[in-house]
Amino acid sequence: MLTLNNVQIVYDNVIEAVRDASLSVDQGQIVTLLGSNGAGKSTILKGIAGVLYPEEGDIIGGTISFDGKNLIGRKPDEIVRDGIVMVPEGRQLFEPLTVEENLMMGGITRTRAAAAEALDYVFSIFPRVKEKRGTIAGYLSGGEQQMVAISRALMSRPRLLMLDEPSLGLAPQIITEIFAAVTSLVKESNVSILLVEQNAELALSIASYGYIIENGRVVMDGTPQKLMSNE
Ligand code: ADP
Ligand code: ADP
Repeated sequence: MLTLNNVQIVYDNVIEAVRDASLSVDQGQIVTLLGSNGAGKSTILKGIAGVLYPEEGDIIGGTISFDGKNLIGRKPDEIVRDGIVMVPEGRQLFEPLTVEENLMMGGITRTRAAAAEALDYVFSIFPRVKEKRGTIAGYLSGGEQQMVAISRALMSRPRLLMLDEPSLGLAPQIITEIFAAVTSLVKESNVSILLVEQNAELALSIASYGYIIENGRVVMDGTPQKLMSNE
């Protein structure tokens, strides 16, 4: 479904953040990217989402294809319409606005009926977001904010959901709740997941395949069993 072949990403013409990376995500899979801080994991997600800035000297080489279509050079909103969304690290909600206002800011214009249907869909995945729909986003706990950020991404009914460090700074109990919801998305809505995580044990507990990234390169890949036995 998603395939990266020999992808190279350079920031500001000089910082080679990703070198010769090849990886793939199949339909209905949860794939995780693991590796230390600064390894290039976020940069890979940004390359897929189309949010690098070529006019400022960022360079992306190789091929990124989604259902056979090349994504390199496509604009971020086109990539969302193709069916790929990213929940960035840090969640990035509009904190003075309510949960529901945040959800409606997905950027994709739609009819009232389609918006209501999308809301029902995300509320079915995160009932807690439904409960808090009228609350100012800035007043929510970190875990609830993460649920809202994922819900906002799901409003466009993506086929591939990319999560950047969703567990960062959250309490174990709410992490379990979020990861259970993510797992159910795959089972019930056939959404595929590309998950960047610092917590390898947690990520490998739900993933079907993983890649270890170091210094911008894929240094190892395999099933959770294989990766856990090598750590
Ligand atoms: P990870 O997600 O694995 O922590 P990143 O993809 O964020 O790693 O970073 C990979 C490398 O690229 C690091 O050396 C980081 O400092 C650098 N980098 C990330 N974003 C930028 C940017 N916008 N401009 C320049 N360098 C960047
Ligand atoms: P990260 O761990 O995403 O992966 P950072 O704290 O390193 O988070 O980066 C925060 C923001 O700064 C990100 O948007 C990232 O792209 C950017 N950034 C990271 N490293 C650099 C860098 N060396 N130069 C410029 N911008 C950077």
